[in-house]
Amino acid sequence: MKDSATANQSALPLLHTLTAAEALIRLKASSQGLTQAEVDRRLAEYGPNRLPQPETPGVVAIFFRQFLSPLIYILLAAAIVSLLLKEWSDATFIFGVLTINAIIGTIQEYSAEKSAAALRSLVATRARVLRDGVSCQIDAEGLVPGDIVSLSPGLRVPADLRLLSGNGMEIDESLLTGESLPTRKHPDSLGTPDTVLGDRTNMAFAGTMAMRGQGEGVVAAIGLETEVGRIAASVLGSSGGKPPLLVRMETFTMRVATLVGIAVVIMAGVSLVRGAPLGEIFLLAVALAVSAVPEGLPVALTVALAVGMRRMARRNVIVRRLVAVEALGSCTAIASDKTGTLTVNELTVRTVVLPNGRSWEVTGEGTRPEGELRPTADADADVDADGDTALIQRLCRAASLTNDGFIGQHDGRWIHTGDPVDVALLVMAHKGGLIQSALLKDWPQIDAIPFEASYRLTANLNRRDGASWASAKGALESLLPLCDAMATEKGDVPLDHARVEKQMIALAEAGFRVLALADGSITLPDGKALGVDDLEHLTLLGLVGMIDPLRPEAEAAVARCRNAGIQVSMVTGDHPGTALAIARELGMASSPRQVVTGFKLREAKTAGEDQLDRLTREARVFARVEPEQKLDIVHSMQRNGHFVAVTGDGANDAPALRAAQVGVAMGKNGTDVARETADLILADDNFASIVGGVEEGRVAYANVRKVIFLLISTGAAELVLFTLSLIANLPLPLVAVQLLWLNLVTNGIQDVALALEPAEGGELDRAPRPPREPVFNRLMIERVVTTALVMGVLAFLVFQHILYSGQTVEQARNGTLLLMVLFENVQAFNSRSESRSVFFHNPLRNPALLFGTLIAQLIHIGAMYVPWLNDVLGIAPVSLREWGVLLGVALIILVVMEMDKLLW
Ligand code: ADP
Ligand code: MG
Repeated sequence: MKDSATANQSALPLLHTLTAAEALIRLKASSQGLTQAEVDRRLAEYGPNRLPQPETPGVVAIFFRQFLSPLIYILLAAAIVSLLLKEWSDATFIFGVLTINAIIGTIQEYSAEKSAAALRSLVATRARVLRDGVSCQIDAEGLVPGDIVSLSPGLRVPADLRLLSGNGMEIDESLLTGESLPTRKHPDSLGTPDTVLGDRTNMAFAGTMAMRGQGEGVVAAIGLETEVGRIAASVLGSSGGKPPLLVRMETFTMRVATLVGIAVVIMAGVSLVRGAPLGEIFLLAVALAVSAVPEGLPVALTVALAVGMRRMARRNVIVRRLVAVEALGSCTAIASDKTGTLTVNELTVRTVVLPNGRSWEVTGEGTRPEGELRPTADADADVDADGDTALIQRLCRAASLTNDGFIGQHDGRWIHTGDPVDVALLVMAHKGGLIQSALLKDWPQIDAIPFEASYRLTANLNRRDGASWASAKGALESLLPLCDAMATEKGDVPLDHARVEKQMIALAEAGFRVLALADGSITLPDGKALGVDDLEHLTLLGLVGMIDPLRPEAEAAVARCRNAGIQVSMVTGDHPGTALAIARELGMASSPRQVVTGFKLREAKTAGEDQLDRLTREARVFARVEPEQKLDIVHSMQRNGHFVAVTGDGANDAPALRAAQVGVAMGKNGTDVARETADLILADDNFASIVGGVEEGRVAYANVRKVIFLLISTGAAELVLFTLSLIANLPLPLVAVQLLWLNLVTNGIQDVALALEPAEGGELDRAPRPPREPVFNRLMIERVVTTALVMGVLAFLVFQHILYSGQTVEQARNGTLLLMVLFENVQAFNSRSESRSVFFHNPLRNPALLFGTLIAQLIHIGAMYVPWLNDVLGIAPVSLREWGVLLGVALIILVVMEMDKLLW
């Protein structure tokens, strides 16, 4: 056993020099796939198909990172100055503050890091693999050498593969070769030992991306043995820079810091002129800076977004970039796919319309082929049932031949794989008595054109009695130009375009997804691969109408969007009639004027951006659009002032996903390309989940504003207090250690606790914020200014009053400090809502804030009694009367805020 493994591994680099059959033998594999027992054995032997992940930083690293900030450097300098001044207790205290700060920061960052890592693992690559002869989807980590893997556009190649077969496959190998154009693959080519990587066209390499065509390959190498594993694991790691919101907040913090710095320098200058000792002034300047600068802001914001991310995950929205949390909350327009997102993408053929105009109904539900095909009850009396039956048989045959799906029985249960359209057609054919596997014995496949959204059809070429026979299915618009006849009970007759189109529109307007079927004899020149241009002179066999039920939550979700001021539109490759019927049912659109086709979009685009933007402003349904046009739609909506969220699943959706403010990929049916370019992933592919995500995004953004409000207003209040004292020519109202202490017991935990606020309710009952509105909008500025003035002025008056009443400076500072601590802690509760009264806001809903603040307050009160500490802090117990007065003054800020909320 061990020997064969080493033999396998050392032979691997040469697999491209072997034919497909030789490669299979070398890998001890078969085109039917490995057995589960063999997979288990190989898994034990070779281990999982995985590259070592970049390590997340450990606790210690995170702890030391807390000290890498300019503010901390200043504090360290201050501690050193106090040491030089032999102010032992000050120095100890500053070091204590530094340590506590670092510990709090570490805990917060570490837990944020942990949850991010857990979420990342949800976004693993999957692979479609053949095992025990059955095609199934597994996590790519479970692949072993010898597995048979199939590739289709948009899938990341999960391991190094020796290709066995393939139709027009192109793979983007830029990751390995730097070559930006996709490489065309030829499974039948043979290389020599010195063929370079980029020219091994019979191989597909792990980490590269399939862009076109379908194919199959056998796993040649996994994990570290793959070409990418050999270079370095690093190329795969996504760098994911800092979210713009955080960058903005860091710049904002720096700007506040500069302002505070200037204020502090002026105050220090004035005190110096008045003859205060230099060392003391320096310490105080540092303390004032530390206290007034909202240094906790970036961390608290990260926490707010990380919490939003976790809450979104609970609602099936997986966030890949932290900023998307905020962005989703701000979106004003959602452009959603139809199939699979608004509908369940479980298709059932309900009706067949033959070119002679007669319709047959298909009974039975779902993907179990139990039911029958029979003439519709209201059919004319003179139905030539036998003639029709032959036509139906021919249609079912075409539907089974040009079909990538599979249905079959496994352990007594019906199973199916493949595109739901294909499965639905197989189920229909089965009900009509045609079994694909049996059919293929007499009609072996020669070649195939897989489905691509840009030409909307599939076709197969099969051999029958020495001749070749084509079958095709797809959108009627795509098939009609290829047909010149239609099948009737009297044989093939010239095609009646108008008649068939009318049948098509009738089906579409009834909400059916409509597919046309055709067949005909085709002879390919020797050695030529089947292409769309080879399809001509086909015979149209009829139309099938399929239903795709709406997702049960979709209608309500669309309504919630309308309520929340978000415009929802549908983007689909489907027929405008079908799309409108479904949009009507969802309440997204009501009139044909709101439907724009891909054709019209292209026309408008050539006529100029204005034209296009006018179209998109009114449109709610974009039908028969090509995937590439999604990008035009997104750009146009953005020019119309929208903040756009767009969904996508295919490889060619990537540009639109990147261009939109919020790119949303599908977790279940999405391709790897889409999932890797998106900002968010819907774990359940469900439109309703986006709306849940919007709600959480709005909660997170509201929490960000709460944190900012608390930090800026309390910092400003401290500056007001100091400035007034200076102007009034009074001593400094607080000494350095008192300021640092104040900062610790009022901002240490409260800011982060605010970031944890649960939803206030009604998030989806108001319009989104204007996309360009800054965090510091009028309300925020007005509130910060009023509350900072009220707190600062009142604290100043109290300080002055105590001094004038004949008490010592120390006593005055003791009272002022207590008042400031009370003020800022009351302000933490004021910040919980911008509009709702504190009294209607259950404090128990945010235990972290309630208990955090209570404990901080108790710590301050306790410190007044602790011998060494109260000495260092220059504080002492106060009388009950003083307590009452100070508490009363502190509550004024509550009253002021309540009145302000009422006024707004
Ligand atoms: P959607 O936006 O609903 O996902 P698609 O791009 O998947 O639309 O499909 C667009 C059109 O292509 C369909 O209306 C249908 O006519 C055709 N089509 C879809 N799937 C297949 C398929 N598997 N085989 C042939 N034609 C298909
Ligand atoms: Mg589709």
